Amino acid sequence: MKNRIYIVGIGPGKEEMMTGEALYILEQADIIVGYTTYLNLLGERFQGKELRATPMRQEEERCRICFAEAEKGKTVALICSGDAGIYGLASLMFEIGKEYPQTELSVIAGVTAASSGAALLGAPLGHDFCTVSLSDLMTPWETIERRLKAAAEGDFVIVLYNPSSHKRKDYLKRACQILLRSMEEGRVCGYVENIGRNGTKTEICTLGELQDREVNMFTTVFIGNSDSEVIDGRFVTKRGYDCRKHL
Ligand code: SAH
Repeated sequence: MKNRIYIVGIGPGKEEMMTGEALYILEQADIIVGYTTYLNLLGERFQGKELRATPMRQEEERCRICFAEAEKGKTVALICSGDAGIYGLASLMFEIGKEYPQTELSVIAGVTAASSGAALLGAPLGHDFCTVSLSDLMTPWETIERRLKAAAEGDFVIVLYNPSSHKRKDYLKRACQILLRSMEEGRVCGYVENIGRNGTKTEICTLGELQDREVNMFTTVFIGNSDSEVIDGRFVTKRGYDCRKHL
């Protein structure tokens, strides 16, 4: 029989925003492994379980702990915020998993920040969108810039993950300046901080204003397409229905 590791996206924060499947898997698991903040987000319900907190940045270490525990015969759940396959550990687990043919990996989908943040803003993702991470820890900035330009060229709604960190304070400004080469200053934008956690904050502004806003690493940023507008204080990207014909 194969060992099994579940790679579980727990959603943005509070338990109500976790899928039923994720909750069920975590209840079945013998051990839950994850970054300390995420283990704390799980709250009371799982405090009786074996929990293994690992520090930030040591992603490979965290993955290897999972394989070692699975080899002892335990059912392991590795938790990631949002969806584990979107800027999460699922892909690294499959890469390391080549060394562990006896272990089977299952990915459990979670609600990603693009989706949970969009819901708080209104309906910004009503048409084609793409996500771009502004983290250049493992991706050269030239690649990020190329993708931003291509997304603007394609008139996609753009969702920015990792818009800032202690070392990258001005990255959002740099991204906005690239987009402003082809987009108008009044383009509808929005951002959401701490989705599903204490201190949730939602803002709608223009692209011109966005470039001077300070955001932190728990923020997801939305840049509208040429059909996005603000309707009754909500950020909406229209799908193209002709609803005026009934007026
Ligand atoms: N796997 C996660 C993304 C991890 S990358 C997911 O699917 O959501 C980390 C980035 O995700 C953060 O910098 C931020 O841009 C976004 N993010 C994750 N959780 C968030 C939250 N609760 N509130 C706002 N943004 C969040």
